[in-house]
Amino acid sequence: MSCTISSVEGLAGQLAEQKAAFVTAGAVSAAERRARIQRVIDLLVQYHKPLAEAMDADFGGRPLGFSLMNDVVGSLASLKHARDNLEAWMQDEPRQAFAPYDQLGAQAWVMYQPKGTVGIIGTWNAPLFTLLSPLAYALAAGNRAILKPSEVAPRTAQLVAEAFAECFDPLEVAVVTGGVDIAKAFTAQPFDHLVFTGSTEVGKSVMRHAAENLVPVTLELGGKSPVILARSADLDAAASRIAVAKATNGGQICINPDLVYVPRERLEAFLASLRTAYSGLFPTVVDNPDVVAVVNSQHLARVEGYLQQAQNCGARIESMPQELPVDGNDRRRPLRVVIDPPRDSQIMQQEIFGPAMVVLPYDEIDQAVADINARPRPLALYYFGEDDEEQRRVLEHTLSGGVTLNDVMMHAAMHDAPFGGVGASGMGRYHGREGFIEFSHLRTVFKAPAHDPRREWGLLPPYGEHFLAAMEALVTPD
Ligand code: NAD
Repeated sequence: MSCTISSVEGLAGQLAEQKAAFVTAGAVSAAERRARIQRVIDLLVQYHKPLAEAMDADFGGRPLGFSLMNDVVGSLASLKHARDNLEAWMQDEPRQAFAPYDQLGAQAWVMYQPKGTVGIIGTWNAPLFTLLSPLAYALAAGNRAILKPSEVAPRTAQLVAEAFAECFDPLEVAVVTGGVDIAKAFTAQPFDHLVFTGSTEVGKSVMRHAAENLVPVTLELGGKSPVILARSADLDAAASRIAVAKATNGGQICINPDLVYVPRERLEAFLASLRTAYSGLFPTVVDNPDVVAVVNSQHLARVEGYLQQAQNCGARIESMPQELPVDGNDRRRPLRVVIDPPRDSQIMQQEIFGPAMVVLPYDEIDQAVADINARPRPLALYYFGEDDEEQRRVLEHTLSGGVTLNDVMMHAAMHDAPFGGVGASGMGRYHGREGFIEFSHLRTVFKAPAHDPRREWGLLPPYGEHFLAAMEALVTPD
């Protein structure tokens, strides 16, 4: 067992050793894959309390029960799903050999082979889940892995490193800790696959670095996920579900509702419902232990900066519950709802990723759809309404990583369906069998028949007079 890694040299050496061990070991049995995943599960069970306490300390306020639900139980769900399904996923898949070789006894199949070592960079907002959920599928596919937790949650990162150093052979799973310098160096290593969860801007840099070594990437990025509230929607139910989402992790979630499109004549009714629902969850904010704080003063200044700038531009801002003076050290904030700010304001351009949200009134739903399509493709899209035809139109005329209808964020909780972005919100996916495939090499194998008929069919040089005519006869439209 090893000490933790925190230098570029240590990282490069560990990667080289993992890659060598991978080649030496050859095939990775289902039992071995399950045992590795089980070791991560056992680690989480053993360390769940100190991990939840570390997340609470890193955020400056994050309920232990919430951290268990979001990061520990969420990761366990991915790990158990992968453990229990990997044997079925990893079976060779027979494929149809082409005619007439199939008649001659040719065989073909696709092998799902591990790629080698997968590098996984996580975020602070879900500091365990963004590491361990991809790890579940990387291990299911037979890979080894090196994890890089976010330096913004340093206590959690250190504990993750120590727990893995205690429970794992670093030739199987290792953890490297450090700041942005280490993170950049991480993306420049010759991994066999790289998973990056983080912002769209950093994602571009990650992809540039990975390109130097032709490392395939899974980019789990963010964006401004929109909600469309249709005229047929149950307003109170929608407001209540949006309030619950905004109250989750202080709004610091990649698929959190960011822009909410509301029919113009229902704007005030929606705001009233939202206020009631949000204040029901959090009657007070300061010192309320149920409220997740904004993770640090830089992120607080970022969100407050968007709000201040919107206010300076004359935007109306509602505080839910009513804002009270805050204690200087407390980073818990009420939900601030910005109504119809100028299009060029920062809050309309940047992902909010915190306890704020924009509400935009619309006259025709097609205007909302056009506005969404004029923006970078979001990670999630939400539609509330009872009009099936309109729902289909919205789905068919927009593109987003995933969708939840008549609620928000729920699709991400599915284990048996891919999760990932599109366009500016990312590429690639994990969760479910698609996660296993993402971290596997799909290797086609063709086993030739004993008899090679090409000579007798006149398909080999020197070409006879019938060769060209035979080829031309095959150029058909059906
Ligand atoms: P971030 O991009 O600042 O950092 C993410 C990780 O990248 C950290 O571990 C950090 O150390 C590392 N990093 C920072 N600069 C780097 C660089 N130049 N090169 C390589 N790595 C670097 O993001 P964040 O603030 O930790 O997280 C918030 C963002 O992540 C939001 O945009 C959110 O939407 C997104 N997110 C996406 C998902 C998803 O599943 N799609 C999940 C959670 C968060």
